[in-house]
Order: sequence, then C-alpha cells, then structure tokens
Amino acid sequence: MIETRDTVIIGSGCSGLTAAIYAARANLKPLVLEGHEPGGQLSITTLVENFPGWPEGIQGPELIDNMKKQAQRFGAEFQVAHLNSVDLNAYPHKLKTSIGEIHTRSLIIASGASARWLGLQSEQALIGHGVSSCATCDGFFFRGLEIAVIGGGDSAMEEALFLTRFASKVYLLHRRESFRASKIMLERAMAHPNIELRTNVVVEEVLGVGDNEVKGLLLKDILTAVKTVLPVSGMFLGIGHEPNAKAFHGQIDLDPEGYVLTKDNVFTTHKGVVVPGVYACGDVQDRRYRQAITAAGTGCMAALEVEKYLEEHGR
Ligand code: NAP
Repeated sequence: MIETRDTVIIGSGCSGLTAAIYAARANLKPLVLEGHEPGGQLSITTLVENFPGWPEGIQGPELIDNMKKQAQRFGAEFQVAHLNSVDLNAYPHKLKTSIGEIHTRSLIIASGASARWLGLQSEQALIGHGVSSCATCDGFFFRGLEIAVIGGGDSAMEEALFLTRFASKVYLLHRRESFRASKIMLERAMAHPNIELRTNVVVEEVLGVGDNEVKGLLLKDILTAVKTVLPVSGMFLGIGHEPNAKAFHGQIDLDPEGYVLTKDNVFTTHKGVVVPGVYACGDVQDRRYRQAITAAGTGCMAALEVEKYLEEHGR
C-alpha cells in the first residue's frame, strides 16, 4: 500500500528547507527528498556573510544544518532518495524514486542547479580550500591575492569583474580563442586593468592538494601543448550551471537550457497552462539571482501556495 503525502519537497537546499519549515508549521508533514547533493550548494561553501541575521557570518553547512533541524522540529521528514521520474498527469501525483514509489497531493520542486566543474580530482579535493564556484560567496577571502577564473561566458566575465574588488589580479582563462560572453561584458573585462585574459588554455591540474590550499594551476596551451604553472591562490569556476530538472522534462515547461519556467514566482506550467499543486522554487527556476536568500524567499512562497492549494482542494 503506497502512502499518499500532502506534500513532497524535491531537494534539501536553502529553498527546499525553507519550504519544509513553512509546510511543516502548516502541519502538512512534508517529506523532503534530499537527492544527490544534500544541503545543496550552501553545503559546499564556507563562510556565508550575506545571509541576513548573521552579523559575523555563518558557515554554509551550519546554516543548512540549522534549517534542517528547524524543519524537523515542526515535523518535516527527510529521506535520501534520487527522483527517477514523475507522473504529474496522475492524481495524486506519482513519484518514482530510488527508494520506491511515492504519491503526493502537491509537489514542491526545489532541486536546484549544480555548478559545472572541470572534473579534475585535484579540483574536487580543493573545493572550499581555494576552489570555488561562487564568487559572491567566497570572493572576500581572496583580498590582495592573485586568482584565476575559468570560462568564456557571461558568468565568467561577471565573476572576474566582481573578484577585482578583492583580488590584486584576476586571470581569466578560456579554452578557446573566441568568447561566448556578450560583447559588453567581454569589453568590460578586457578594459579592466586588473584582469588578464588568456585564451586557448586548459587547466590540467590544481596544485596544492598536499597543503590543502590552492598553490597554483598547471595550464596547457592547446595550440602549442606547452605546459606552464600559474601561481594563484584561488580558482573560480564560471563555466555554467546545470538545472536539476531533467526528471520533469515533458511534464512541465522548461526553458531551452532546462530551467523550470515559473509564472508569478513559483507556479509551474505545462504548455503555458498552470499545473495545479506543483510549484518550483530556488535555483532550479532562477538563472538570475541565485542567492541563498532569494532561494529561501521562493521556497517560502511555494509552501504558502501549497497550503492554499490543499485548503481549496482538500487533503
Ligand atoms: P555559458 O554561456 O554556457 O558559458 C559557459 C562558458 O564556460 C563557455 O565559455 C564554455 O566554453 C566554458 N566551459 C564550459 N565547460 C567547460 C569546461 N569543462 N572547461 C572549460 N570551459 C568550459 O554559461 P554562463 O556564462 O553561466 O551563462 C549562462 C547564461 O546566463 C547565458 O545566457 C548568459 O548570457 C547568462 N548570464 C548573464 C549574465 C549577465 O548578463 N550579467 C551573467 C551571467 C550569466 P565554450 O565557449 O568553449 O563552450
């Protein structure tokens, strides 16, 4: 016998946990599916200094842990499970997960977006120790230091420009000759005296694993195959994000890059028509702000909409 839940929240980042706090306080006993990156992107950052209420800042994992405890205190339940597929045409909606089938009257999609990484072992080992995918979160720690930003799109330009507030020099490293970034962003980066653009280079290795801090990058020029060491203290990835919305393809509207399209902040649609009882919040539907506080804000909105929906349609 498959139990039917009032609401299931896909994702346990800032947005999903905020939704869980609100839904739990509304006595909906939400089930949160934690997914493959429990805690979301905050759980892989260090000090968070821009989340209101923490004048001295708070460690990302601690902030996430606090939110989880807060949700549990009001009755939210957590399961580590991967979502394989959904059937939103059925009611209650059917979710096929790695721990079995779950039925739910309403659904909050808070599955986030995952930063793209280069995939090097040394890069993965130094995340949080000089390697970062979030300039807004971690730029402050590189005051007066030389750093590198990887990528050739708008995110990389934006990160490089932002990081000049802290770093003494920013190397912008791109794997090709031409840039994907918009002309205006590229021109701004090129004009900045503290940014040096280098093209046709790839990172072969992040140096410093033994010391647990970034000491430099081993670069390879793809035209000449010449390898050089760039002595920098940090590496920021600006190579894009992947929204975690593949399981919803064909069930709700996604934009060409796979982000959930929302109407009035959190309402999902299918072929332009609102899908009742299914809401999306946080980075899976936000390619613009991508901040913990904005993710929390839309998580709150989604839970309030669930509450209203269940009141109107019965539990
Ligand atoms: P993007 O446009 O897809 O650019 C990603 C960049 O990373 C590309 O230059 C790509 O190189 C490079 N890259 C991807 N994988 C790589 C790898 N494994 N190794 C090395 N380099 C790699 O992504 P984005 O910059 O995040 O932008 C996404 C969207 O958001 C765009 O539409 C952008 O305009 C928008 N955005 C706008 C702003 C703004 O206007 N202020 C700011 C941020 C983002 P290749 O070029 O060789 O593929």
